Order: sequence, then structure tokens, then C-alpha cells
Amino acid sequence: MTQPCIITVAITGSVPKKEDNPAVPVTVAEQIESTHEAFEAGAAIVHVHVRDEAQRPSSDPAKFEAFQDGVRKHCPGMIVQFSTGGRGRASDERGGMLHLRPDMASLATGSVNFPNMIYENHPELVDDLAQRMLDYGIKPEVEVFDLAMLYTAHQMAEAGMIRKPVHVQFVFGLKNALPPRREILEFEVAQLKALMPDATWTAAGIGRSQLEMNRWTLEMGGHCRTGLEDNIRFDKSRLAASNAELVARVAGLCAEYGRHPATPDEARRILSMAGQTAVA
Ligand code: MG
Repeated sequence: MTQPCIITVAITGSVPKKEDNPAVPVTVAEQIESTHEAFEAGAAIVHVHVRDEAQRPSSDPAKFEAFQDGVRKHCPGMIVQFSTGGRGRASDERGGMLHLRPDMASLATGSVNFPNMIYENHPELVDDLAQRMLDYGIKPEVEVFDLAMLYTAHQMAEAGMIRKPVHVQFVFGLKNALPPRREILEFEVAQLKALMPDATWTAAGIGRSQLEMNRWTLEMGGHCRTGLEDNIRFDKSRLAASNAELVARVAGLCAEYGRHPATPDEARRILSMAGQTAVA
């Protein structure tokens, strides 16, 4: 039996627009359809940002709810992960949809510079989002954009602010944050294992580093993220045709590394998560 690899598909993000790649799903209907295709290609987790009519990042809980309902209906067992990033600084803007109890939500545990902005996560905001996730039984995916965020996540887990076992995503390739260097990933994974031996991890490479990061991660025993959120606007020479194409690329690579794409049930077991919340 090969080792499962949980494939996360980040379908839309807060930055890429239709003008960058017409394949980016923007409306909720497009997002559900794109997620369904990615699910059939082997994705077990969908990471979602929603957009308004002008394609700007939206905090509208109704859009998150419609998306989640659609995915639960069409993609049985798939893990729904809401992004708490990509918009604003206020807790209600960032976490005002968490009462919808998605399976998971992203949680950046510190601040970092992005290409054209500060990704600002005040300690009070981090604590507030973590508390909401505890209250609603949502498993955080800790987003490590810079090294300090890993240690903050450990402190929060020790303090009971993040339930164990912790799941972490290491992010690379964003200008002004960590460059996609394998030594950094190896160091981060070693620190994670030393601090939190039961933690699970995935890695995301933004732009040109996406595929390289997938390969390193498959080799090192982690889980993979792909999708149009990370792929486009950075590499216009090779625009992906769909989220499903990017998921199929990772699914196809798995066998080279003695891995196979995790089913949603396998993913839930690996992440120590309960089964899917019953559809009302
Ligand atoms: Mg995101």
C-alpha cells in the first residue's frame, strides 16, 4: 500500500482574475463546478476565497454558504476549507463566515510582507480567529508564510488555542516572503517534527515554484497544494486550463514517489478529523 497524499485545490484565491486566466472560477456556480472537476481528478480538500461581482475578494457569508452547500452536495466527503485571508484586517471581515462550520479554515499565525501589501495579522486577530475555530469545531490549517509563524502555532497549541494534532501549510514563492528553497522547507519540517511530532504538513509553491514544491513535498512525505490561486498571474507563458488539470498533474506524480491521492476518508483520518457534517 502506498502512502496517501492529500491534494488541496486552491481554486480561486484573492488575486487572480479572469483577465489573467479565463479558467479562474469567480462566481459561486463556477467555483462549485471547478471544485467538482478537481474532486474527480483527485483533490480531497478545497480551499476557497469568494469574490464579488467586480471579482474583488468578498466576506459575504451567503456566498461561502452557497459554495459549501454545493460542494457538500456534489463532492461527497470532500473537505471544505474557508480562507480567512485575502481581505481586510477586521475580525468580522476575516472570520464572519466561520459560524457556517466548514471542516477547516486557514489561520495565518503572524504578519508578513506580500508583493504589494502587508499581510497584517495582529496577535488579537489571530487569537480571535483561533477562538472562533475552536468554538465552531473547525480544524485550522496554520499558514506559515514566515518562520516565526511556526513557533507561534506551537505556542498556541500548547496554550490550547489550536487543537492538536496541528496541521500546517508552508508557503513559498511569494515575493517578499520565503523563497522556494528546499533547505528552508527541510528546516521547517524538521522543526515541526521536533516541536509537534504528531503534526501533519503540506506545502504550497506560488507561481513558478508550484510544481517543484509538489515534487519535494511528495518525496518528503508531506501533502500537496495546487490550483489556480497559486498558479497564474505569475507564469503567463503556461496558463493552466483548469483546476482539474493542476490536480491531475499532482495525482499523476504520486506514483513516482510511492504515493497515491488520498480519498476524502483517508484525508479525514490522516488529519484526525471527524466525518462530514450532516447536510441539513
Ligand atoms: Mg488563499
